Amino acid sequence: MDKLKLIENVDTIFTADSQGRELANAYVLVSGGVIAEIGEGPYTGRVPDEIYDGRDMVMIPGLINTHHHLYQTLFRNFKGVNSAKLFDWLTALYDRWAKVGEEAIYTSTVIGTAELLLSGATTTSDHLYLFPGGNNQLFDAEIEAARQVGIRFHPTRGSMSLSREDGGLPPKEVVQTEDEILAEYERVIDEYHEGGKFSMLRVALSPCSPFSVSDELMKETAELGRRKGVRLHTHLGETEDENQFCLEQFGLRPVDYMEELGWIGGDVWFAHLVHLSDDEIDRLSDAHVGMSHCPSSNMRLGSGIAPVTRMKETEIDISFGVDGSASNDGSNMIKELRQGLLLQRVKYGPEALTPREVLQFGTTGGARVLGREEEIGSIEPGKAADLVMVDLNRLEYAGGLSDPVSALIMCDTKGVDFTMVDGEVLVKGGRLVDEGLLDFIPKQNAIAQRFYSE
Ligand SMILES: [Zn+2]
Repeated sequence: MDKLKLIENVDTIFTADSQGRELANAYVLVSGGVIAEIGEGPYTGRVPDEIYDGRDMVMIPGLINTHHHLYQTLFRNFKGVNSAKLFDWLTALYDRWAKVGEEAIYTSTVIGTAELLLSGATTTSDHLYLFPGGNNQLFDAEIEAARQVGIRFHPTRGSMSLSREDGGLPPKEVVQTEDEILAEYERVIDEYHEGGKFSMLRVALSPCSPFSVSDELMKETAELGRRKGVRLHTHLGETEDENQFCLEQFGLRPVDYMEELGWIGGDVWFAHLVHLSDDEIDRLSDAHVGMSHCPSSNMRLGSGIAPVTRMKETEIDISFGVDGSASNDGSNMIKELRQGLLLQRVKYGPEALTPREVLQFGTTGGARVLGREEEIGSIEPGKAADLVMVDLNRLEYAGGLSDPVSALIMCDTKGVDFTMVDGEVLVKGGRLVDEGLLDFIPKQNAIAQRFYSE
């Protein structure tokens, strides 16, 4: 029989279910990685094997991060490019990225996913588009690392095929031939993608961006992804530079270009979507496209403010992404929600987004974007036991408890106190249960130092 784990006396549970239910003085019973029962008051059923105290805690569903480049944790706060625009920032770093190997990928994945767990994320996507010298094993290395950490993982196999010589941005050391890319897409799906319920690992395909691969590869990627039943992901509409580039190169704006390539659909999610016309928003809505909103990255690079407040009235599925650490410098998921709320208010006023709305985007929104709304993203019986709790006795909430759920977003939440993924407790008392993961900090610093001293 599966072990029963009980979390009891929880001050408030924000379930994120379709009725927006919030339970007071409540419990959650977990069996075999799945939520078996929730309720208010004391639990009275079969004696559990393990009991966790939720006193003075707010529980939310595990947050779902839908855009990251974990390897970039090695390049955060990189001296000399802290004030660069996207294209300049990319051009400055591509040459360093050409030296990234398996140890760097493994280490940076452990670091980034550990940060995510400590900030309330239980599922993360990653966009790895860098395979210097044709080193395809980097994808395998990040999967191994995410397994060690225990996070639910959606790695996306990226690609770059257009080098500077062919009109793209990256140098030739980091691009691959299209045949090799397509063969690798197929290999990693066959080897790693688990389509079943409560899967801990699903693969998606993700050419880096319209300015780093050919139109042919974009089309073939979409065809292969649909044949194999995996989702598609890329960056889109991030900067005005990108609009200019697409108009000059293809005679089309980015959304038109993607439409021509078969890339507008319910199985696609785009990171950013900052620079869109009203008509483009409506077309993305008609197609039920997913969005990963990355407010810190957009602020850090000065890219602009995505029209989330306008998009929330449409059928576009909205989720949050911390984005690569080199354009955010942190992988703090719960802070990203707060950033999103604040940034929308800069443009649309104080009623733009509420704390509960951003919590919804960060949970059920993410689940929909990844095609997993039946399994994760809310606290309901039958859903995966991906649960997060924050202690209301934290310094940053003192005096701010008139609405505990809202405090998680409005006050300056620095991290979470309890994270359970697939029924396994990975963060307890605000610390990683596997303290050995902290040994990766000096390792990561040594690798990063090699990059910036070269
Ligand atoms: Zn990105």
